[in-house]
Amino acid sequence: MMSKQTFGFIGLGNMGGPMVKRLLHAGHTVLVFDRDAAALARAVADGAQARSSALDVADAAATIFLSLPDGPAVQHVISAQDGLLQGKRVKCVVDLSTIGPRAAVAASQALGARGIAYVDSPVSGGIGGAERGTLAVMTACPQPLYDELAPVLKNFGRLFYMGAGPGLGQTMKLANNLLSAAAVAITSEAMAMGAKAGLDPGVMLEVINAGSGRNSATMEKFPKAVLTGTFNIGFAARLACKDVRLCLEESEALGVPMVVGAAVREMLVVTNAVYGKDADYTDVARLLETWGGVPIRQHVK
Ligand code: NAD
Repeated sequence: MMSKQTFGFIGLGNMGGPMVKRLLHAGHTVLVFDRDAAALARAVADGAQARSSALDVADAAATIFLSLPDGPAVQHVISAQDGLLQGKRVKCVVDLSTIGPRAAVAASQALGARGIAYVDSPVSGGIGGAERGTLAVMTACPQPLYDELAPVLKNFGRLFYMGAGPGLGQTMKLANNLLSAAAVAITSEAMAMGAKAGLDPGVMLEVINAGSGRNSATMEKFPKAVLTGTFNIGFAARLACKDVRLCLEESEALGVPMVVGAAVREMLVVTNAVYGKDADYTDVARLLETWGGVPIRQHVK
C-alpha cells in the first residue's frame, strides 16, 4: 500500500479537476492553485486545500503536478515572481500538460538550475479518462525518479516510460494528438457526405465502428457530442490546434514532411476563427454541417 502523501496541483481545468479528485479519492492531501477562482472553488468543494499562488503551493509540497494549457502558462507558473522556482519545499514538478518538447526542455533547465526535477508526463484520454483513471500517461524522466513516482501516477491511468530526456513524453503526445485531430477532421467529412446522401448518421457510426474506419472520433466524440448536437467533448479546439501546430513545428525541425498534418491544422484554425476561442474540439463537425448544408445528428427513431 502506498502511504498517504501531500501533493501540489496547479491548473484545475477540464483535466486537472478530475485528476485532483483521483488523488483525493486515493487518500492524499492535495494543495491546489488555479488563477480562475471558479476552478479553485470546485477543487475545494471536492476536498482539496486552496493556496493563493504557485509559490504558496511550492512552499508546502515537495511534488507538484501541473495541468496547464500550454508552454507559456507552464513557463509563467515556474518563473513568475510568485512562481515555483522560489518555493521552499518543492523538489519535483510533474508536468501533465501538453507543451511540446522544446518548452519541456526549457522548463527542465529552469527548474534544474534550482535543483528541482522536471518530469515530462503528458496524458491522453480526455475528461472521461481523467475521471475514470484510465488515461495513457507517457512519462520521461530519469528511471529512478520514474520508479518513485509510478505509484502516484497510477492513479491517473496506464503508465508508459518514454525515456530519460525531457521532451520525449511530449513528442509521444504530439504524435498521438496529430492522429486524434486527423480522426476528428476526416470523420467530419465522411459523416457530412453520408448524411447529405441520406444515410442515418447513427447507423453510419455503427457500421464504421464494426468496420475498418473505426477511430477515436467515431468511437467516442461523435456519439457523445456530435450526434447529440451538444458539441461539448471538453477539449478546446484552441488546445487541439496548439498540439497540431507544435507537432508540425517539431516535424519540420526534424525534416519530416507532414502534408496531411498541415491540412488538419488548418481545419482547427478555421474552427477557431469561426466558432471563437471557446470552440470545442467537436465544433470541427459543425463546420462540415455548415459547409455541407446538412446536420450530422441522430435520426429520431
Ligand atoms: P483547461 O483550459 O480546461 O484548464 C487549464 C487550467 O489552467 C484552467 O483552469 C486555467 O485557469 C488554469 N491556468 C492557466 N494559466 C494559469 C496560470 N498562469 N496559473 C494558474 N492557473 C492557470 O485545459 P484542459 O483541457 O484541462 O487541459 C490542460 C492540459 O492538458 C493542456 O495542456 C491540454 O492540451 C492537455 N490535455 C487536455 C485534454 C482534454 O481532453 N481536455 C486531454 C489530454 C491533455
